[in-house]
Amino acid sequence: MAASVRVILRFSKENVDRPITSQVILEQGTPVNILSARMNQQGGEILVEIDADHVEGVIKAFRERGVTVDVRRLIEKDDDKCVDCGACVSICPMDALTFDDDHSVILLEDRCNGVTCGLCVDTCPQRAIRLIG
Ligand code: SF4
Ligand code: SF4
Repeated sequence: MAASVRVILRFSKENVDRPITSQVILEQGTPVNILSARMNQQGGEILVEIDADHVEGVIKAFRERGVTVDVRRLIEKDDDKCVDCGACVSICPMDALTFDDDHSVILLEDRCNGVTCGLCVDTCPQRAIRLIG
């Protein structure tokens, strides 16, 4: 996939059982790449990656079917609170938190699974990372 956009799809109890994602893929003629998911019969959310050229149509198609779509930053790291201990680097499954050349810890936002992960938020002893939204 070329340039892509990550969005969070939130399903409710009413629409979680419907094959909405496959309908949107067929209708829009573009893949919707599922990166992570947290779902049960009460609803849930999935993080997906969409080709940037198709993102507007795909978002509209999900919203028309009652799915809430969020496009935004997923976690935020407060560099003033961070002491570069590296605890979050060890736990991140996506290598989204890593040591920079100067040994400071940086967040690579485009790798982060965010809301459906959140492991680093609870791991940080400084409470320097928080989920957004
Ligand atoms: S939320 Fe998960 S994927 Fe994102 S930086 Fe934290 S540990 Fe890594
Ligand atoms: S766990 Fe917290 S204090 Fe440690 S490097 Fe990560 S963000 Fe910084």
